[in-house]
Amino acid sequence: MKIGVLGSGQLGRMLALSAYPLGHQMRFLALSEDEPSSLLGKTFVHNNNPEILNNFADSSDIVTYESENTDVTIVNKISQNTKVYPSHKSLYISQHRGREKALLDKLKIPCAPYQMVNSLDDLKSAIKSIGIPSILKTATDGYDGKGQFLIKSEIQLHEAWEKMSGVESILEGFINFKRELSLIAVRGIDGSLAYYPLVENSHYEGILRLTIAPAQNISEPLQKKAEGYMSSLLNEIKHVGVLTIELFESDSGLLVNEIAPRVHNSGHWTIEGAKTSQFENHIRAITESPLGQTTSTKNFSAMINIIGVHGPIQKALKTKNAHLHLYDKEERTGRKLGHITITSNSIDDLNQSIENLKEYLP
Ligand code: AMP
Repeated sequence: MKIGVLGSGQLGRMLALSAYPLGHQMRFLALSEDEPSSLLGKTFVHNNNPEILNNFADSSDIVTYESENTDVTIVNKISQNTKVYPSHKSLYISQHRGREKALLDKLKIPCAPYQMVNSLDDLKSAIKSIGIPSILKTATDGYDGKGQFLIKSEIQLHEAWEKMSGVESILEGFINFKRELSLIAVRGIDGSLAYYPLVENSHYEGILRLTIAPAQNISEPLQKKAEGYMSSLLNEIKHVGVLTIELFESDSGLLVNEIAPRVHNSGHWTIEGAKTSQFENHIRAITESPLGQTTSTKNFSAMINIIGVHGPIQKALKTKNAHLHLYDKEERTGRKLGHITITSNSIDDLNQSIENLKEYLP
C-alpha cells in the first residue's frame, strides 16, 4: 500500500523503516525537504498549499500522522476521500487536555483532579478546590513539559496565568507519584488488541531520557488494570493503530496523565526488544492487517535518548547488546537526535551497559 504520513520527524522515519519490509511505499507531508524522513519516501512540502495537500492525499491509499498536534482540519479534509487511521476522533480528543480528562471521567479511569481555567479569576477559584501544589498547563500544544507552571504558593497565581499567555488552560492537582509509567497498545480494524508491558520512564527537564522495559516490580493485577483502562479507551474511540497512555504510579494506584494517539518515544525499545515493534504494529493496524506479537525478545530492555548533542557515539557502538538509532538531525539544545536500545536476559548485564553509557543520562 501507499502510506502517507502527516509529519516527517523521527517517528515517521521509524514507521517507514518498518513499513518497507512489509512491501509498502511511503510518502510524507513535510515542513521542508530536509527532515528525518526525507530520504525514506516521496516528500510533499506543504507550505499551506491546498494543491500539494491534494496531491499528497491522492498519492496515498491510507494516511496516518505522527503527532497529536496535527491540524484536525487537514485530517478532516483528507478523510473525505482517503482513509485516515487513527481517525479524526482520536486526534481531536488527544490534542486537548480537557477533552482527554472528560473522556477519562466518562470511562471512570482515574486521573489527577483538574479544573479548566480561562482567566485569572478562574484560576483563583480553581486553586480553592484543587489546592496547592498544583500544575497549570495550556489545554493544547504542550509537549515535553512545555507550557506548564508549577504553582507552589498563591502569590504565584498572576505569574502562572501570565505564562499561559491568555490561552485556555487546565489546573491539575500535583500528584506525588512514585514513578512514571507508560503503556503502549495497538488496536486493529477488527477490534483485535495487543499490549506491550508497562515500562518505567525517567525524565529530565521535561524530556524523556530513559525507559526500562518492562517496568520492574509490576504485579500481574497492575498490568491488567492498565490494560483495562487502555481497552476502554481504545474501544470507546474505535481507535485503529497504536495508542499510548502515560501514567503516574501513586500510593492510591495508577492515574492516567496523557493519551497519545501514536507511536511513542517510550516504545522505541520494541524495535529490538519485542517480537513486533510498535512501528510495525501501527503499520499492520492501519493497513488492516493482522497484528503482530508484542511479547519481549529478551527479559529486559532499556532505551536511552540522545538529546541535544550526539555524544560518545563510538562508545555506544561498542557497548554490549546496544543498538544505535540516529535520526539524521542537527545538534540543538533539547532536541531528540537518536536513541540507544539495550536488550539483555540479565539485569546485571543491562545495568552494566547503561552504566557504560551514563554520559547520555543527566
Ligand atoms: P505532561 O506534559 O502532562 O506529560 O507533563 C510533563 C511532566 O510533568 C510529566 O512527565 C510529569 O513528570 C510532570 N507532571 C505533569 N502533570 C503532573 C501532575 N499532575 N502531578 C505531578 N507531576 C506532573
